[in-house]
Amino acid sequence: METIQVRNPRSGEFDYAFTPPAPEALQRRAAELRAAQRDWAARPVESRVAVLQRWKDELLARRGALVTALSIDTGRHLLAQAEFGGSVAAIDRWCAQAPPLVQEHEGRSQAQPSITFRSQLVPYPLVGVISPWNFPLTLSLIDAIPALLAGCAVLVKPSEVAPRFVEPLRESIEAVPELAAAFDVVMGDGRTGSALIGLVDAVCFTGSVKTGRAVGRAAAEHFIPAFLELGGKDPVIVTETADLELATDVVLRASVLATGQACQSLERVYVQESIYDRFVARLVEKASAVPINYPDMHAGIVGPLIFDRQADIIAGQIDDALRHGARVLCGGRVEIHGGGGRWIRPTVVVDVNHSMQLMTDETFGPVMPVMKFRSVDEAVELANFGIYGLSAAVIAGTLEEAEAIARRIDAGAVSLNDGSLTGVMHEAEKNSFKCSGLGGSRMGAAGLTRFFRRKALIRQTGRPATIGMFDESNAGR
Ligand code: NAD
Repeated sequence: METIQVRNPRSGEFDYAFTPPAPEALQRRAAELRAAQRDWAARPVESRVAVLQRWKDELLARRGALVTALSIDTGRHLLAQAEFGGSVAAIDRWCAQAPPLVQEHEGRSQAQPSITFRSQLVPYPLVGVISPWNFPLTLSLIDAIPALLAGCAVLVKPSEVAPRFVEPLRESIEAVPELAAAFDVVMGDGRTGSALIGLVDAVCFTGSVKTGRAVGRAAAEHFIPAFLELGGKDPVIVTETADLELATDVVLRASVLATGQACQSLERVYVQESIYDRFVARLVEKASAVPINYPDMHAGIVGPLIFDRQADIIAGQIDDALRHGARVLCGGRVEIHGGGGRWIRPTVVVDVNHSMQLMTDETFGPVMPVMKFRSVDEAVELANFGIYGLSAAVIAGTLEEAEAIARRIDAGAVSLNDGSLTGVMHEAEKNSFKCSGLGGSRMGAAGLTRFFRRKALIRQTGRPATIGMFDESNAGR
């Protein structure tokens, strides 16, 4: 297999390389995991919980190595720490939630009370996880943890753009042999991801709509379910009753955090006409004061763009908007530092409309295009424009007013008087709307129970019907 070179987002240098497994090695590993899954699923859930808790200890023992690798992968430190802490917390959360969720249920037929049933929960033997580069650790483990607790074996293929964390992660898994039998992580690019789909019984994919379509097609070909968590173009509606300080704080944070490289980043800002000028002035003032985290990674806020091609996409969208009459009030330029690292400062763009790529395509950068609306009806129509329906936000004078608007928005989750709350809310189930995804909720109880097929064991406790009962002469006249 050819070696893949990996770029450092702070320097632009290709300073890391890996070789993906050959197709036969991938097949062999998938077969081993599938074989080991029988024992893994046969354990009581408490035993799987105990194994995951031991893995958590091994992760904690490698915290330094994992956070350092993630920092290099992403060019940011605080969020690397947060990813590590969030993943450890996810293990604890799912370990606490799993035991009641794996209980089988009993029931009885209403029509024929002598017939009862028990639901057997049968985990998919081998689940494949394919993840993106923006939160490399979080999104590699977010589906793997509940799938493992459901009794599935799991094979993860993280993004080739940010793979340095895989080595310490694999060490932590290998330190727990019972877990290593049922769980592995392989490095590779789209070719390995594509091959993986043919080897698993269900696939969890997080990434772009374009790749999601290809994954969905391949899953259909192999007749396996695909849980697709795709891109977004999240709108935020700010009404004239909103607290201006709160609204500008929220829009800035939820657009700029992680350099906008989060699926739930706010990417379209709709502001009511009467407060528009004041809102824009205050947003520009605040956005202009947000520093980049260069030259010192341990100071500043906005990290580099992890994927260099994303910088070209962002620059292209801004150019397209400028060509069509938009104005950039701050930021707006990709800056090169550290040799070849690419940063973009928080960017506010006005005089935008829905003919511009900046308002239709996912940007995945710290860019806030702001548009005016007159009535709430118009705001809802603007927010519901486009192919995406991942999440949204509404900021209004009261939660009641915000909720009334949120109920009309076509998105899987709406944050009220805040933004991007799906990043911290793990308990609420949500389904993506339109092209932002497909399949059961990753959040809430369904995040685990979607890894089961339900098998009905239907018992006859009385005398079974005989064929004679179906003689036409028994029909009522
Ligand atoms: P991407 O679609 O380019 O790649 C995602 C993964 O798919 C990578 O691991 C890649 O190697 C693999 N891949 C590429 N081609 C493949 C193929 N043909 N078959 C199987 N796998 C293949 O996405 P990206 O650029 O890494 O990530 C950014 C995207 O992810 C954005 O669109 C963002 O919105 C989305 N995202 C969504 C969520 C969510 O929860 N909805 C979360 C984070 C990111």
